[in-house]
Amino acid sequence: MSENLNPFAIAQAQLDEAAAILQLDPEMHAFLREPMREFHFTIPVKMDDGSTKIYKGFRVQYNDARGPAKGGLRFHWEETIDTVRALAAWMTWKTAVVDIPLGGAKGGIICDPRALSSTELERLSRGFMRNIARFVGITKDVPAPDVYTNPQIMAWMMDEYSVLSGHQEPGVITGKPLELGGSAGRGDATARGGIYTVREAASALGLNLQGKPAAIQGYGNAGTFAHQLAEELLGMKVIAVSDSRGGIVNTNGLLYEETMRFKRETGSVVGFPEAETISNEELLELPVEVLFPSALENVITARNADRIKAKIVAELANGPTTPNADHILHENGVYVLPDFLCNAGGVTVSYFEMVQNGYQYYWPEQMVHERLDQKMTTAFHAVHTLAQNKKVNNRVAGYLVAVDRVATAVRLRGWV
Ligand code: GLU
Repeated sequence: MSENLNPFAIAQAQLDEAAAILQLDPEMHAFLREPMREFHFTIPVKMDDGSTKIYKGFRVQYNDARGPAKGGLRFHWEETIDTVRALAAWMTWKTAVVDIPLGGAKGGIICDPRALSSTELERLSRGFMRNIARFVGITKDVPAPDVYTNPQIMAWMMDEYSVLSGHQEPGVITGKPLELGGSAGRGDATARGGIYTVREAASALGLNLQGKPAAIQGYGNAGTFAHQLAEELLGMKVIAVSDSRGGIVNTNGLLYEETMRFKRETGSVVGFPEAETISNEELLELPVEVLFPSALENVITARNADRIKAKIVAELANGPTTPNADHILHENGVYVLPDFLCNAGGVTVSYFEMVQNGYQYYWPEQMVHERLDQKMTTAFHAVHTLAQNKKVNNRVAGYLVAVDRVATAVRLRGWV
């Protein structure tokens, strides 16, 4: 079966399915199918060797009916405008499903950050902010980290914005270092929020996860913290992890501390002693209780969906499952925690960061965890209950909740 793997076509197809069930009026549907605004930039960067390279960057403000647009910035060599559009659409549904007063956006630069020196990365980050500065701000649009961006990059961008605007506005960007107005608990928030939804799903399904196997595809911010927290909070045994170079498996379990130390020292999990090497594809098909796709889009497709043996697929990545795969998984009884619910912990704590920046008074980590838990648990039950009642999969149910909230805001504003 050949599938359309264009992420934006996928995001639109997902919306179409929900719109039909909601009997959304055609004007509203047409409005929600497209980004409200998008910006394309060329960013000249002085390289360390004296040459100048021209980079391409994007920011898509998909919808800001419910509040200022919100979403991360991705630095990736395969970035495309359609990927950014899709990610911005998913941010719109994400902020709506956890019910925080924000819209959805996403940005990106086509670049290979692994090949840049720290000074080049700083100039590229500042160059991006110079382009976007007039379109962002606490009342307009608030960027954050995503794939291959981190707190240091957020700090440079925040500083550049302060220089350009002539005043301090830490809330212009989230995911900052703690020392510059970051929130306690932002670092592991994406994984932690996902783990809370897995905990709730297991209890709704009557599954006991203690000592049971889990596999994690992707070993970046979301994947590494998922490893730690699956052990710590769920008592699970993580038997396989992978990164862009490949995967490792040991059915007796891979301990977070040791695996992470090896990754830090060598740059990859591959080669970890006392584990066998497997491919990313093989990892996805392992017989585990919970599978965490935690890297990029389109890893579970019509090609391999039938071979997924996990009972729960917890999507910490954005867009890991295609619509065809979704239907196969649903038919096979695989319980999917869809991305815009499962990984909403990151943006939820970003929102907490904005709130704390607003009054310059900071919460203890425990308070962040409790408030995150409450948001994630409430969102999970809204989606799970609707899915059961309507007999649809969780992604469709999540769309029904989120699209209805966004459409209501659009209507109340009198746009459509
Ligand atoms: N990049 C993260 C996401 O995809 C976080 C976005 C944010 O904190 O604004 O949800």
